[in-house]
Amino acid sequence: MKHPVRTEPACLTATGESTTAVHAGEARTRGYHAITTPVVYSATYTFESTADLIDYHEGRVEREEYGRYGNPTVRAAEARLAALEAGPSGIPTSALLCSCGMNAITTLLLAMLPTGSHVILTNDCYRRTRQFFRTILHRLGVQHTLVPMGDLAALEQAIRPTTRLIISELPTNPYLRIADLPGIVAIARQHRIKTVIDATFATPYNLRPIEYGIDLVIHSATKYLGGHNDLLAGVVIGKPPIIAALREAQGMLGGICDPHTAFMLTRGLKTLALRIERQNQNALALAQFLCKHPRIERVHYPGLPSHPDYALATAQMRGFGGVVSFEYAGDLEATSQFIDRLKIPYIAPSLGGVESLVEQPALMSFYELTTEERLAVGIRNNLVRYACGIEDSHDLLADVEQALSG
Ligand SMILES: *Cc1c(COP(=O)(O)O)cnc(C)c1O
Repeated sequence: MKHPVRTEPACLTATGESTTAVHAGEARTRGYHAITTPVVYSATYTFESTADLIDYHEGRVEREEYGRYGNPTVRAAEARLAALEAGPSGIPTSALLCSCGMNAITTLLLAMLPTGSHVILTNDCYRRTRQFFRTILHRLGVQHTLVPMGDLAALEQAIRPTTRLIISELPTNPYLRIADLPGIVAIARQHRIKTVIDATFATPYNLRPIEYGIDLVIHSATKYLGGHNDLLAGVVIGKPPIIAALREAQGMLGGICDPHTAFMLTRGLKTLALRIERQNQNALALAQFLCKHPRIERVHYPGLPSHPDYALATAQMRGFGGVVSFEYAGDLEATSQFIDRLKIPYIAPSLGGVESLVEQPALMSFYELTTEERLAVGIRNNLVRYACGIEDSHDLLADVEQALSG
């Protein structure tokens, strides 16, 4: 079945993130003259006559056909995300919304990697992405190499004739390392390899990898883009032909985003710039406070001059993001007790919403491992990841201060 290539809905040209976040991707006049894009709950779409159906197949009209291939509410969210990621660059972009961030990653990988191909990943990347390579992609005959973050020589050395993709996160979790985008793009282009950045921790407010020549950007929209800890979604953004190919793959794999989630995402996106600005400020203030405190051994935040990627972060990013990782001066139990004394952040995995969240990676994502196994993957028992929400900075700091003096 042939799906005509769709053009994005008429969208206004804006140069600022907030204008883009509030207006981009929606037709100026919407159904029923509503100010919001209606949530279109329809599993299928009807044709007046067979002639109408043929017109659709021949690409003479743009419309929906069946829910797995597209939905107007989802398309509006996709167009807004594409506009945000392109920024004022004018680079043509499209977006494919997926059921969650992991589905965005797996759809991209399953669609782009033939048996016998090879992928280079920077270490310190999302645990489930690594697991997908080790298990399912391994079974399908796709190989991968992990290279240390920040080591461009190791990256170039890992390239094989079969290498199809270079994938990195930016900033990484939990150490918030910053990839050298011009360095990666230069190497990848020389070897005709496509580049993918999971920019979930950055958001298009802080950094737009496409402006550096990165081919594909992934976000877990569950985090900052949705921004309210109330939805799961993922997105892949890149040049229109490549996104059209991924959309074909989604038509088979089926990991679509439902219209209600798309509506909530569009709603959340309207305040993206406001939220990220506050979250950047809160995290920087927290990092600066913690690095002077005697009960804290180390602080990992790219906005601190002590961070190994401070220079790269300053050159590439507008803000340094809302997550701060730090090491408490104490063992596993003492660190848990410090976390339990915190009154504002909730103990929970995830990040990016308006509520601050805190976690001890050793007892969250790495609970099943022994202390030795955790150390082998770089996770100390006293490590804390604090994902700032939009609360008032002085309240967050006062809360951390009381928990540290407990
Ligand atoms: C959360 C996260 C994912 C997975 O996204 P889901 O929406 O939870 O499926 C992928 N990458 C990064 C960096 C994440 O933080």
